[in-house]
Amino acid sequence: MAQVRKYLIAGNWKMNKTASDGADLIKGIIQEVGEQTEVGVAVCPPFTGLETAAEILEGVNNISLGAQNMHPEPEGAYTGEISAAMLRTLYVSFVILGHSERREYFGESDAFINQKVLAALESNLKPILCVGETLEQREDGHTLSVVSRQVNEGLKDVPKDKADQVVIAYEPIWAIGTGKTATPEMAQEVHGEIRSILVQLFGEATAKKIRILYGGSMKPANADELLAMKDIDGGLIGGASLDAKSFGKLVSSALAASRATA
Ligand code: PEP
Repeated sequence: MAQVRKYLIAGNWKMNKTASDGADLIKGIIQEVGEQTEVGVAVCPPFTGLETAAEILEGVNNISLGAQNMHPEPEGAYTGEISAAMLRTLYVSFVILGHSERREYFGESDAFINQKVLAALESNLKPILCVGETLEQREDGHTLSVVSRQVNEGLKDVPKDKADQVVIAYEPIWAIGTGKTATPEMAQEVHGEIRSILVQLFGEATAKKIRILYGGSMKPANADELLAMKDIDGGLIGGASLDAKSFGKLVSSALAASRATA
């Protein structure tokens, strides 16, 4: 990966860890990540863990805080939901949007996810827009058309001057939490396609700055070869982000990949 982009390793904790269990995990991650600043690192606890996480991360400049979802409206009668402004009060800088679990279990459409992306950018949150195909779509040869639609619709009306704040996560659904990983070549093919869509949308110079993460059973054993691919700029990590040592090893892999291309 070219050095114009800084690698990002982001942990998606999903619905795991109480605030106090999360505090222990973050303390472990701080130890593992150490002082390095060459690789961006983010942790995304559940909403209930954000405040405690923000307190622990105060003064820690090389680990950012992310949320796993938000509502596009600034406030109002949306029981159970959280706004971008609320996240900002907790020093959140990233927000995962359009995760396949949100799309599948909560019926989130590309149009709704697009509203969230726009609202996040408006509040200076960096959206991590998740895209990816099902096994059936891959087997039917529809991977690139599905991902292309999700990227184009998810980024509709994103202003060019904010586009480099966006992070895309390519997460083949069949690889999430299953132990099956896309081969580096399979992942690169889709990442390359996403990069060319970004060129069409925002022009070459901006597209080069946008990070495209891979997600789907990334772990220390397979990270090196994935992170060596040209358009893979980091990882969105589920299972392996719940263990400080594994997560720290992924940061080390990204650091090695970053130095290899420096
Ligand atoms: C995820 O759900 O974002 C993810 C990548 O999960 P896992 O690493 O567990 O496959």
